[in-house]
Amino acid sequence: MDIFRKGLAIGILGFFMMDSGFGQSLPVRPSRCATGSVMEKYFQKYPREKIAFDKNQQDFQLRYEAARRAKKETPLQQRTQAIITIPVVVHIVMDNPALVSDDQVQSQIDVLNADYAGENADSVNIPEAFKPFFGKSSIRFCLAQRNPAGEPTTGITRKVSTTTSIPGDNDPIKYAAMGGVDGWDINKYLNIWVCKMTDNSDLGYSFMPGLPGLSSSDVGLVNAYHAFGTIGSAQSPFNKGRTATHEIGHFLNLWHIWGANECVESCADSDLVDDTPNQGKCNYGTPVFPLTDGCTPTAPGLMFMNFMDYVDDATMCMFTAGQADRMETALSTLSDRKQLVTSNGCVPPILYDRDIKAIGVDAPSNSVIYCSSNQITPQLRIRNLGALTLTTLTLNVKLDGNSPVTTNINLNLPPLGETTISGNPMAVSPGQHNITLFTTLPNGGADQQPANDTATALFSAIGEATDPLKQDFESMTFAGTGWGIGNTSDVIEFNPVRVTNAAHSGSASVKFDNYNFQLFGKYSMLVSPQLSIPLNADSVKITFWRAAAQYNRSHSDTLEVLISTDCGQTYSSVYKKGGADLKTRSDYYTSEFVPSADEWVADTADISNLVKGRFDKIVVQFRNINGYGNNIFLDDIRVYSRVLPAALKEKGLLISPNPTTGIIHIRHYPSTAGLRGIAIYSSTGQLVWKQDYRSGIAPDDIPVNLQRMASGIYIVHLVYTDNTISQKILKMN
Ligand SMILES: [Zn+2]
Repeated sequence: MDIFRKGLAIGILGFFMMDSGFGQSLPVRPSRCATGSVMEKYFQKYPREKIAFDKNQQDFQLRYEAARRAKKETPLQQRTQAIITIPVVVHIVMDNPALVSDDQVQSQIDVLNADYAGENADSVNIPEAFKPFFGKSSIRFCLAQRNPAGEPTTGITRKVSTTTSIPGDNDPIKYAAMGGVDGWDINKYLNIWVCKMTDNSDLGYSFMPGLPGLSSSDVGLVNAYHAFGTIGSAQSPFNKGRTATHEIGHFLNLWHIWGANECVESCADSDLVDDTPNQGKCNYGTPVFPLTDGCTPTAPGLMFMNFMDYVDDATMCMFTAGQADRMETALSTLSDRKQLVTSNGCVPPILYDRDIKAIGVDAPSNSVIYCSSNQITPQLRIRNLGALTLTTLTLNVKLDGNSPVTTNINLNLPPLGETTISGNPMAVSPGQHNITLFTTLPNGGADQQPANDTATALFSAIGEATDPLKQDFESMTFAGTGWGIGNTSDVIEFNPVRVTNAAHSGSASVKFDNYNFQLFGKYSMLVSPQLSIPLNADSVKITFWRAAAQYNRSHSDTLEVLISTDCGQTYSSVYKKGGADLKTRSDYYTSEFVPSADEWVADTADISNLVKGRFDKIVVQFRNINGYGNNIFLDDIRVYSRVLPAALKEKGLLISPNPTTGIIHIRHYPSTAGLRGIAIYSSTGQLVWKQDYRSGIAPDDIPVNLQRMASGIYIVHLVYTDNTISQKILKMN
């Protein structure tokens, strides 16, 4: 393979114009390390990153060569290289994260420390001819002793999740929002995610340094759980911890020993290290020394036992001095690696005797809508950061601007232990509230670090209302008297909002924002007050106007209407529409949707059969389920019941009022099926009103205005499929 781009002058140093090799098509997907294919895909997506990366590599190579020359010129005994210890945090993200024990994690750290120090026992297997090149770096590793907040940690996190790694940028395993775990500060920690791979043939990957556009969340190693450490879930032939040894090599700017390409036979491609033999492509399995190829055709041949080849764990056993120098140069000079050298992540923090941390408010929460007729029990999650076991504590609960209410709590919480403490149940009025929970007097004394004692939350409580319920969002006080809002993400701003740039009637409506929030599956909600309806209601209906646009085929949202008969404890779905069924704008719409007047559609959920005769209180929830599509708007919500006159239900037909001064209602029960027409005659036989229902179904309540008619007797003729009924009514002035 020609490593030089055609038309470019070759610099003084051959590597200077080197093409990093990524960007070529892959004949074979590597079965051991996905770093090469990940970088290639990344560069296809972001070609400018390739340019920046190549430039960074060229600059680095100059520094590395200079450092290497200086080192070679310095006698061994005069070299002073301080030990660099990199703090490591291991995030185990699996359906069963307990499968990877703390001991297994430690076994991996032990392997790394041995391999990077050149103290690995299997280094005795290095062939005699390669022993002069054996590299012993000054790089070491520790499990982090303090987390990004400066608190003590084991350096191990675990999360139960079915998310698997998809190698590349935006790997879901590295994002809490996608079921993974967010990495810790990359300037202080090397993050290692231990997990299942979506493609089982991948053992791990890491981005190399020098990618200015790479999200910091994408920095770090992914390591398959069956190729991690030496015990537990590690499986032969990848159970010697060498996947991490190899991937950290990439993390510290080592190439594969044969070069930058994807295991394509090429003698021109180099790993840019001067003491590794030229090698055409990768080796797998357990080769036997000496092994030669077209690039190095004579013994001792290839250094297949190098950590940067693809052989089995038990076969690889060395870095070279050139590789060790390269990694040390990366740590001392690369802007996206050198902060690790000065990180205090390996230093345990000094603990106070009395230090309680408020982790967060467990209840009340913005993800639940409370019922003001029930009491709320405030709950705070705490961690004992103090050096002493915590036995007594005071919880203070401050609702809105009120004075705190205190609860004294006895407990038995060891240092670094976590628990949830509860305050006294409390009544809350309808509306949105701020609540502040904070701790005081741990073990009877002052907290020595009071800044971390407080947590706050926002929540809604609904009130009560009488039938019929109307909500047109015209009032400035959103969500309206007795109404509640909330959402199930941690993002308060995802709550529904009142807007005045769109309305079905009046000048305001409510917007559910799916355009700006990517919170797949999370929902935001608007919840009605608890509405009293007559137990003898014959019908109960929810009507509303909606407007929605679909972003594209694969990004659309869902609107669901649910009712609760236990004031919000449990809900049943009564309406659900999504995607093409929901949208009121005909085309896909990739700008932020604001409906025009003709993009509103009326909808009804008839809940009569669920409610009537059984419940006299209901709560209605409008739930917007995010699909990162576009906005949904609601307006003119009505919830109402109808109680029909006993006479109507008995006779099946009622014309009332009779006598009348104006409008009469012709009502049928249970339906108007069979009604073909109505005609009204005066007592002299003159036709004064008629309506034909032969095509279509008549409404079950037909109003007729007789206001302009003279007073006197009128006869209403109702024509059905199989009979005719006539009734007299008296019009008075
Ligand atoms: Zn690799």
